[in-house]
Amino acid sequence: MLKGKAAIVTGSTSGIGLGIATALAAEGCDVMLNGFGDPAAIERLRAGLAERHGVRAAYTAADMAKPAEIRELIAETARQFGGVDILVNNAGIQHVAKIVEFPEERWDAVIAINLSAALHTTKAALPLMIARKWGRIINIASAHGLVASGEKAAYVAAKHGLVGLTKVTAIETANQGITCNAICPGWVLTPLVQQQIEARAKVQGIPVEKAREDLVREKQPMLDYTTPEQIGAFAVFLCGEAASTITGAALSIDGGWAAQ
Ligand code: NAD
Repeated sequence: MLKGKAAIVTGSTSGIGLGIATALAAEGCDVMLNGFGDPAAIERLRAGLAERHGVRAAYTAADMAKPAEIRELIAETARQFGGVDILVNNAGIQHVAKIVEFPEERWDAVIAINLSAALHTTKAALPLMIARKWGRIINIASAHGLVASGEKAAYVAAKHGLVGLTKVTAIETANQGITCNAICPGWVLTPLVQQQIEARAKVQGIPVEKAREDLVREKQPMLDYTTPEQIGAFAVFLCGEAASTITGAALSIDGGWAAQ
């Protein structure tokens, strides 16, 4: 069903975004990659996806903090693939500090990349989806879109905001063949989380393996990390026919974190 659909996954050079881009390519979607990284490594990712799955794969280096570059990402995808059918707002950053010490510049960056970017991509992509009477928008929020933790003011505010934007998008598009949902992962072992684990190991003077276990135990009843592949499979499900009336939902995949 997804063969030939045009998909954009923001922040797909790594982690969850790469897991989702790979899963969509495996279903036959043409995929526009985006994100930062070593140009040669990104080119290997792009070429590998195209070759393994027989799809078109392209890459745009748009910075999700810059609305003009975001608009160009959508326009470039439409030029290369003829439209935009699936939009996955995944790019995200984290900054950990108490509110009284929170650097204003980091607050602005987290809100811009984790929240405002999704408004800009959605605003630019929706007319293309409406024209085709079909679209899927998936916002990668977080358990932190539903519950809070200390020292993550910008991230928690942005992810709660993203869940709100998801609901508004769903209401506005409800009868246009378009759905919009938020996926709310708990801990997923990606470079973003690996950095937090290593920082924790350093501060506490404990082995990285112990810090990895402690981190998940603190928040999740289930002690397994979710994988980028599992998030990719969830995104594919949300794009399919069986999910065509799921819209405006904040869907947890979090080992029971938000159930507490
Ligand atoms: P990651 O650091 O592995 O990947 C982030 C991606 O975003 C990279 O491709 C990076 O280049 C890109 N990116 C960062 N800033 C960008 C910008 N300004 N413009 C364009 N691309 C940019 O992180 P991840 O763990 O895969 O996280 C992906 C998303 O999932 C984020 O929104 C994150 O908040 C969310 N999330 C992650 C976890 C987790 O445990 N890893 C849990 C819940 C939610």
